[in-house]
Amino acid sequence: MAKRDYYEILGVGRQASESDIKKAYRKLALKHHPDKNPDDASAEEKFKEAAEAYEVLQDDQKRAKYDRFGHEGLKGGPGGGGGFGGMDMDDIFSQFGDIFGGGFGGNSGGGGGGRRRRMKGSNLRIKVKMTLEEIALGVEKKVKVLKQVQAEGAEYSDCQTCQGTGQVRRVQNTILGQMQTASTCPQCQGSGQSVRKRPQGSDEWGMVRKEAVVTIQIPAGVEDGMQLNVRGEGNGAPMGGVAGDLLVVIEAIPHAFLQRNGKNIHYDLYIPFTDAALGASAEVPIIDGKAKIKIEAGTQSGRIVRLRGKGLPSVDSYGSGDMLININVWTPKKLTDEEKSLLEQLRDSSNFEPDSDHQEKGFFDKVRDMFT
Ligand SMILES: [Zn+2]
Repeated sequence: MAKRDYYEILGVGRQASESDIKKAYRKLALKHHPDKNPDDASAEEKFKEAAEAYEVLQDDQKRAKYDRFGHEGLKGGPGGGGGFGGMDMDDIFSQFGDIFGGGFGGNSGGGGGGRRRRMKGSNLRIKVKMTLEEIALGVEKKVKVLKQVQAEGAEYSDCQTCQGTGQVRRVQNTILGQMQTASTCPQCQGSGQSVRKRPQGSDEWGMVRKEAVVTIQIPAGVEDGMQLNVRGEGNGAPMGGVAGDLLVVIEAIPHAFLQRNGKNIHYDLYIPFTDAALGASAEVPIIDGKAKIKIEAGTQSGRIVRLRGKGLPSVDSYGSGDMLININVWTPKKLTDEEKSLLEQLRDSSNFEPDSDHQEKGFFDKVRDMFT
């Protein structure tokens, strides 16, 4: 969205004097002040817009730059104090304070309630170990978590320092005349409350650590190191504050003989060289049991058999990976005299010579299988 002209925002001409600008801003700030327009986002927007316009136009250097180059002139230039991305409420209040707070009773203790800060509990982090089988299916886990909760019998009352407003105010003399600045009450951290009755064993906020059992739904296909956020299951906050989150880090337990590669599962199968030559069938472990595969006669070592869809589901999209069975031909290490003599008879058979192009073909077959 294009930014509006600062003079237009304040409703003053380009020749406006400093006091005209001040006056115009004061009027707008009063009109759109959030205390006066609770829950009105457009008023808040106008309030911010006016604060930004004033921030620039009250500063001779910034104003000169703005006059020459417009909004572009304020982006990160020397002395510009960085780009002007707009101001948030905290900026405005910390800079100007509740300038006009006294004007509508913010001073008398009647107001201020709206800016109390709800306390927020901190996040907790736990690790959850998962087997490959659990990862394949997704699982519900119950975990024990030691988290902070409000102690039974803890009682709270309005903070003495800020009279429950959550803010402390100070009167200052500034270019706008006498202003009040408001800042977060250091005593209650803005909550406006303090502990009146602190049960034994609880901390300064009347909180205690307690073991809780949290049920976590872990979707299928998660990977080692992934983090799930379980909202509101972290440390609690006193006085009905917002609980933090429970961050669950997945720790995958390596499988004894199935290896994971993304969504695919690899398995190394060893077959006797006689089966490789004659053909056979073999049983292989898959995640949820066993599968039978056919070994074609003349199977070479390094061949990969793919079982489509027998890998892991994807955690964030549809479809599953494959199970890839890497066939290794096992050469016997010990032979009886009889076996030896049988093999001796076969040694000179021309069929036992590797094809000249075997090496290359094997390699390309493998690559194609891996990537298609
Ligand atoms: Zn306080």
